[in-house]
Amino acid sequence: MSKILLHNIWHQDGAYDIQIENNRFVAITKTKALSEWNLADDIQVVDASGKAILPAFYNGHTHAAMSLLRAYADDMPLATWLNEHIWPAEAKMTAEDMYHGVKLSILEMIKSGTVFFNDMYFAWERCAEAVEEMGLRALVADSFIDRGDEAYANAFLARFKAQQSLNTDKLRFAIAPHAMYTVGGDMLRRCAEAACEADQFLHIHLAETQQEMDDSLAKYGMTPTEYLHSLGVLGPKTIVAHAIYLTDNDMDILKETQTVLVHNPCSNMKLASGIFPSKAVSDKGLRVILGTDGSSSNNNLDMREEMKFAALMAKLRYGAEALPATQVLQWATADAAAAFGIDAGVIAEGKLADAVIVNLKHERMTPSFNLTSNWVYSADSSVIDSVLCDGRFLMRHGRVPNEDQIRENAERCAFDLLKRVK
Ligand SMILES: [Zn+2]
Repeated sequence: MSKILLHNIWHQDGAYDIQIENNRFVAITKTKALSEWNLADDIQVVDASGKAILPAFYNGHTHAAMSLLRAYADDMPLATWLNEHIWPAEAKMTAEDMYHGVKLSILEMIKSGTVFFNDMYFAWERCAEAVEEMGLRALVADSFIDRGDEAYANAFLARFKAQQSLNTDKLRFAIAPHAMYTVGGDMLRRCAEAACEADQFLHIHLAETQQEMDDSLAKYGMTPTEYLHSLGVLGPKTIVAHAIYLTDNDMDILKETQTVLVHNPCSNMKLASGIFPSKAVSDKGLRVILGTDGSSSNNNLDMREEMKFAALMAKLRYGAEALPATQVLQWATADAAAAFGIDAGVIAEGKLADAVIVNLKHERMTPSFNLTSNWVYSADSSVIDSVLCDGRFLMRHGRVPNEDQIRENAERCAFDLLKRVK
């Protein structure tokens, strides 16, 4: 059994000693001198003086392998970006490329305090391999884009069903039809049925642009949300990325079905997709979490930045009191963990031991009037000392094992890919 004692660490309102056994926090008590502890021989004691513990991040929507296309195409609208740049490059990507891209992304996520990501891309086996090697949690799915090919669709559904025998505590497999404008109605319905039958998550893009809204109204006489609802796609295990263009009726549908909305503020701003209606959805009591989207539309995977941008974007639209730091932190941590059924997201006895340990003796954390405010508005990743996932350190003192090699492999794959595309 692995045991860790985080000694003299700042937690909420004071200094505590936090005991971890196996993968859970088992005791959180006011700090006392180490000499007063009757320590077992096999306990790892971590002196955390001058540091604070905070919940780790759960990234609600990303395409991890896209880190290979970081800065490949910038400063253009979504349709041009996808059709003329991203999709042609993706067509030349191998599974090996994707594996190294995912590893680069996981490295970046760990270093910025993320212990879980909800992924939608391709080469799920290599993605899963990277997740297991790096030790964090993930919900992995291959993205489905309709080719009007029945055999291809059947093979996709059969594969999702087979993947369910591979689920573990930390790694699970979702179904991910790309969007209502890239997948036909019949296949969307079949994906929803398969997810329901497997009691598994369905991950899809929804209402990301005005164009999607206009086309849906013209083609189906329904909004994208109404259309997905009519096909039985929405529900408490459905994760919809973006959800920017929502009518009042759409919000009622999302509320009634308990669908989870993923707000991706950086991607939405960079692609000028639109402004997420954060106040309206909060007022209605919808389930909202945060995500980064892929590295090529962001261009990083830093959930702390998403918190800050989400808050600032809300304030610009609704006023300075909108979306306070405590709420946006909750979206990125506790609410996100709950959305994915992970018994974590808060530092409390009995919860899974996922956490970030931040350095309070850092210029960006000084003065320490308000830890949450400093973390959301002032910090950057350089304040993170260590990251814990499932009771294990994924990063200690700013270093992740093999990080230089991971970065070099990704660099090589990205430049080789570039040569094949041009
Ligand atoms: Zn996306």
